[in-house]
Amino acid sequence: MTEPILRLEGVQVSYRGAGLGVQGLDLEVAPGEIVAMLGANGAGKTTTLRAVSGFLPGEVARLSAGKVYFKGRSVGHQAPHKRTRAGMGIVPEREKVFRLLTVEENLKVCASSRRGHDAAQTMALIYELFPPLHERRGVSAGFLSGGERQMLAIGRALMTGPDLLLADEISLGIAPGLVVQLLDTLRRINQEQNTAILLVEQNAAAALRVADRAYVLEHGRVVLDGTPKELLGREDFFSAYFGLTEESAEVGDAPLTSSPYPEGASHEL
Ligand code: ATP
Repeated sequence: MTEPILRLEGVQVSYRGAGLGVQGLDLEVAPGEIVAMLGANGAGKTTTLRAVSGFLPGEVARLSAGKVYFKGRSVGHQAPHKRTRAGMGIVPEREKVFRLLTVEENLKVCASSRRGHDAAQTMALIYELFPPLHERRGVSAGFLSGGERQMLAIGRALMTGPDLLLADEISLGIAPGLVVQLLDTLRRINQEQNTAILLVEQNAAAALRVADRAYVLEHGRVVLDGTPKELLGREDFFSAYFGLTEESAEVGDAPLTSSPYPEGASHEL
């Protein structure tokens, strides 16, 4: 089997004075794979992503047990910028961009000088993937809509030339139609650049449309994992972890049934 690009072994994160954010969590992402983390509020999705990226605020939280391996190297106690340099691209929560800089300046400041990464080519790809960013490339990011800022946040992460993209709740505050579009764009990035993606998503239906596999977290632990088809085939998937019935879980016009893909659509890479 191929060596995973990311492997978490028994990861435990402690929040000072507030107990454990995640406990004994194991997870893997293979090169070029899209993996979703699902679960109710407070399940530990964002905390897991922070343990991977290194953005655990030292005064509040720490990796108190377990290992994070990136490309086979233990990085659990490495600074975030070193992980970025090694090939992790981070799309932060809540559309964090430099609001006073233009769209293009926001992209340029993230340009990586990693070997084999062509920043100009990546910028051209970002503009192709997100036409509104091209149209508004000279505009200050503070004037963008929430959805456009989210596109810019994804673009900024891509400018670092990542082998693994970490995306936290890109659907937050975004119209349902645009969520599907953004996630489809992530799938395109994955296919065209062979970038592995670990995404945290509240919108399980939208995430399962694009993910190769998913982990369901509850109380800081993995309680289910599998392909979308496997998960959707389990009776306990809807009721136990989301309090949903199959009928109530819908994305736009596409009901989330045992097949998350539109009829006739291929999910193969
Ligand atoms: P959501 O979907 O609501 O964002 P989540 O699955 O991402 O939730 P986390 O934010 O990772 O969950 O939270 C996991 C646990 O860690 C929760 O019990 C939460 O209360 C706790 N926690 C998260 N951030 C902090 C913090 N800054 N200080 C203390 N406890 C925290």
